[in-house]
Amino acid sequence: MRISEIIGHEREINALCASFKGNRFAHAYLFAGPDGVGKRMAARAYAAFLNCTAGLDDSCGVCRSCVAVASGAHQNVIEIWPTDKDGDKDLNGLIKVDAIRDVQSRLRCRIESGMKVVIVEAADRFMPQAANAFLKTLEEPPEATVIFLVTARPFALLPTVLSRCQRVNFAPLDVKKVVDYLVDKKSYPSSEAGLAVRMSEGSISKAMAWLDDGQGMLRLQLAEALGRLTGQDADQALRLADELSKRDDIDEALEAFKVWYRDMAVACNKGGASHEILRAIACYSAINAAQEEIRPPRNANKLLAMETLVLKLAGR
Ligand SMILES: [Zn+2]
Repeated sequence: MRISEIIGHEREINALCASFKGNRFAHAYLFAGPDGVGKRMAARAYAAFLNCTAGLDDSCGVCRSCVAVASGAHQNVIEIWPTDKDGDKDLNGLIKVDAIRDVQSRLRCRIESGMKVVIVEAADRFMPQAANAFLKTLEEPPEATVIFLVTARPFALLPTVLSRCQRVNFAPLDVKKVVDYLVDKKSYPSSEAGLAVRMSEGSISKAMAWLDDGQGMLRLQLAEALGRLTGQDADQALRLADELSKRDDIDEALEAFKVWYRDMAVACNKGGASHEILRAIACYSAINAAQEEIRPPRNANKLLAMETLVLKLAGR
């Protein structure tokens, strides 16, 4: 990951680059913004840049240091993740004090060249004891060390942690920019990329997860077909019901529809059309009810449940 490959956030990225090049950087940065807009990628890009042995304005991507950063094996680059009860990485887990002690002992080791970079993933997931231990590192950062805290929930961080970080806000990405990136750089078909990005609210990681999962894309296409149902003829709605009822992943497909209607409600809310919001909410509830119907213990007939649902969604 190179700095030049970061999508969007131009102003923030340029300001950070300037402060690193001018040696006027902070010891700790808080990368705050919604999931999937490139915060972790940016932190890794800076970790590579600060340790690259060849690049001047950006990491080269090919030297030994860059290769080590990319594979997660660089001595200087330390990532802290929340973990579950078995100690496996888990974004819904917690950052435990042992992890912090481990990082602190690694930070005490001398380095030969480059900069030590600590990346704290989901920095709002510190256990209290771990947060207190980490505060010491933030208060007296070791030499040649930069800390990046990454979070989608900055409001959940301790004020004492917040006050010691320079905050960099990562705004939601421009949909068109993300689509262009996925089409030009990742070679996804543009119609699929457009749909996935619209449904993911501009989150690259979510959009790519959908694009890479053939079933996920099918569900999105169905969700879009459902979204267009209003005012169409009953035959078409019933064909869709038939198609749906035969799917093994019918429950996941219905889940995708709910996302569709939730997004619609949010979009309408911004636009201020209240009857549209009510319709989106009604559709959401109808899908929820249909899910209940076909799940155990009810196990209702899937075709009938889907016919009832699509006709309801089509406004008939
Ligand atoms: Zn390099």
